[in-house]
Amino acid sequence: MPASKFLTHQYFCNVPGEIWRWHHEFRKLVEKNKPNISHHALADLQMFYKKQNQKFTLITQNIDGYHIDAYHQALEKIQPAESIKSPDRISTTSVIRSSPNIRSVSIKKLSARVSSLTYKAPTPNSKIEEFKPKPPLKKFGFCDEVYELHGSINYMRCDKNCTTDLFSGPKVGCADDFVPECPKCKGVARPHTLFFDEGYDQEYYRKDTILNEIRTGDCLIVIGTALETNLAAKIVGLSIMNKKLVIEINPQPCIKNGNVRHLIGCVENILPELCEALQTQRNV
Ligand SMILES: [Zn+2]
Repeated sequence: MPASKFLTHQYFCNVPGEIWRWHHEFRKLVEKNKPNISHHALADLQMFYKKQNQKFTLITQNIDGYHIDAYHQALEKIQPAESIKSPDRISTTSVIRSSPNIRSVSIKKLSARVSSLTYKAPTPNSKIEEFKPKPPLKKFGFCDEVYELHGSINYMRCDKNCTTDLFSGPKVGCADDFVPECPKCKGVARPHTLFFDEGYDQEYYRKDTILNEIRTGDCLIVIGTALETNLAAKIVGLSIMNKKLVIEINPQPCIKNGNVRHLIGCVENILPELCEALQTQRNV
């Protein structure tokens, strides 16, 4: 059965153990692996902008938590681990099908363009404040620099919404069909992931906050996605409508309209190079 048929809230209500079984399995897989070179490249770029008091918001459709892990690892490099509270969660992007008219641009040229967009040189008399990283604002399960659009397998919440709090998920390696209970009302707990028959909201998925970030940003980088989910498509549409620079990294790009530049090829090859170029460019 395709995931879109059974990963629904309706199915969860009927057989919660089956849905939890899928999540327990997925968490085991995620635990066996680690964030890859692209997760780390983006996290390092976030820290680079953070040091310059500029914001690089990561919005992800992934539910595996790797972007948050990479973010916290990068954060630990620039501030003491003890000042970082329990992990937050966040992240991404998406897109469509290729067109023969889409042409790739050079990373060097593109990074120069991005830097010219966002870099504000200090005025001669301005005092550059010493960079003091702050611990992320902590609401359990959220981080204001990484947004997980579809939730995260690392968290669960009350299925009856007795509270909007998020809780850590059950131990990896628990019984296959273990159904955890809500720590507050002792009712059934559900995974903190968006089911296919549910919509995005602000409370659990930060929909309005994310759209606001897009409205106020200078540039949108869309990475390896087919824009098949409606919020991802809306994010790209909003950027195009507001005439923002859009960079699409994809083996088969799909954004055809607007001020878009394409980096065509494997994300794992292109993304680290782009992140590096953006930092080098800024330091010139
Ligand atoms: Zn409850």
